[in-house]
Amino acid sequence: MMHRRHLLQGSGAFGLLALAGCANIGSGPPSKARVLVVGGGYGGATAAKYVRLFSDQKIDVTLVEPNDAFVSCPVSNLVLGGSKTIADITTPYTALAKNHGVRVIKDTVASIDPVKKVAVLASGPTIAYDKLILSPGIDLMWDSIAGSRAANSEGRVLQAWKAGPETVALRRQLEAMPDGGVYAITIPEAPYRCPPGPYERACQVASYFKAAKPRSKVLILDANQDVTSKGPLFKKVWAEQYKGIVEYRGQHKATAVDAKTGTIKFEIQDDVKADVLNVLPTMRAGQIAVQTGLANANARWCNVNYLNFESTAAKHIHVLGDSIQIAPGMPKSGHMANSHAKVVAEAIVAEFAGWEVNPAPMLTNTCYSFTDARNVIHVASVHEYVAAEKTFKTVAGSGGVSAGPTEQEGAYAWNWARTIWADTLI
Ligand SMILES: Cc1cc2nc3c(=O)[nH]c(=O)nc-3n(C[C@H](O)[C@H](O)[C@H](O)COP(=O)(O)OP(=O)(O)OC[C@H]3O[C@@H](n4cnc5c(N)ncnc54)[C@H](O)[C@@H]3O)c2cc1C
Repeated sequence: MMHRRHLLQGSGAFGLLALAGCANIGSGPPSKARVLVVGGGYGGATAAKYVRLFSDQKIDVTLVEPNDAFVSCPVSNLVLGGSKTIADITTPYTALAKNHGVRVIKDTVASIDPVKKVAVLASGPTIAYDKLILSPGIDLMWDSIAGSRAANSEGRVLQAWKAGPETVALRRQLEAMPDGGVYAITIPEAPYRCPPGPYERACQVASYFKAAKPRSKVLILDANQDVTSKGPLFKKVWAEQYKGIVEYRGQHKATAVDAKTGTIKFEIQDDVKADVLNVLPTMRAGQIAVQTGLANANARWCNVNYLNFESTAAKHIHVLGDSIQIAPGMPKSGHMANSHAKVVAEAIVAEFAGWEVNPAPMLTNTCYSFTDARNVIHVASVHEYVAAEKTFKTVAGSGGVSAGPTEQEGAYAWNWARTIWADTLI
């Protein structure tokens, strides 16, 4: 943290220093450094704000994001449980412009040319950059499950793994399902976005069923051997609080869906029929990262230099959030994306200013899971950069998991959500 203090203290002199890194120095009035941020989610919005803050508002920051407002995936499962609405988890982008001078463009980046250092917007214009920060989240690989792409585009089989209209539509499907029906969620092999998320979702749907349609069932069909996060805690909740409602089946790798008959097929196990099918296909880095050739880890995730999150495939493009190839023990989480963003912002500002890039960045993570409308469990960790191995590692003895769900942690979880939304967007 010493370095950040040093960086902020030095920010008054930043104007001159920042210009030293700019391409146009010497040709007339020096232009400002230009940072283009692609994606206004947990990673991108935080990075946009913090480049402005750390540079004393000297660096020009443009953020391109197609959505009108930020809809949080964290706590979106509560919309399915019925205790929150989509409005409760939505924050406008206006404060990023008003409070921090970020230029927010509502559009999609259609392509990036890493050699010319320009991005082309779907609506046509191009934007030149000195540094590009890419945080496009995940791409859902529908072709990993036969029939799922068409079933999803017809609105019959939903993912709701990008919070928004599908979250609302899935809640409607649950409301329309008769008592005695079955909701099934399929989970892909790890790594995927938010390890505990599917299990939290199972709790939320079960909590709704318990209150409103108690003869109904929640089937968790997991491609992994066993529950991938907070396993003993979730299993205890299912056995005690949702006995007879939740059933967990590991080693169920979905291969095909038939929306008309409500059937899911698996690599090995027997077919399953359900009334509401919530299919989560295999995941990879956001489409724009893949098409730009940055997904150089198993053709799925983007390898980065963990000191500054610069892509190992293209200079001046920094990838963060869910799209990256994770370091050991690093979850694909909103908290982690927010933490990556600050390391990236600091490194970029330091590079433009000609300062030493922090040689020992740290990251933190906490993931809360609501087991019903009020009770929560968490998992937390701290990660340090290990220079000798050029990767992040979990700090021994840091973090941990809850003993069991409590309302006190429920209060912490809401405060976490409000605080991270403010830190990211306000
Ligand atoms: C149900 C659920 C529960 C979760 N719970 C938690 C939790 O409790 N705690 C936690 O820390 N994390 C949680 N997560 C995980 C968290 O949501 C993700 O890890 C986080 O959103 C990753 O941030 P990101 O910036 O990589 O992606 P995102 O937040 O998804 O942001 C990506 C953004 O990029 C935009 N974009 C994509 N392509 C383009 C393009 N070509 N041009 C312009 N914009 C583009 C998208 O519109 C999107 O807004 C949860 C996830 C889910 C689904």
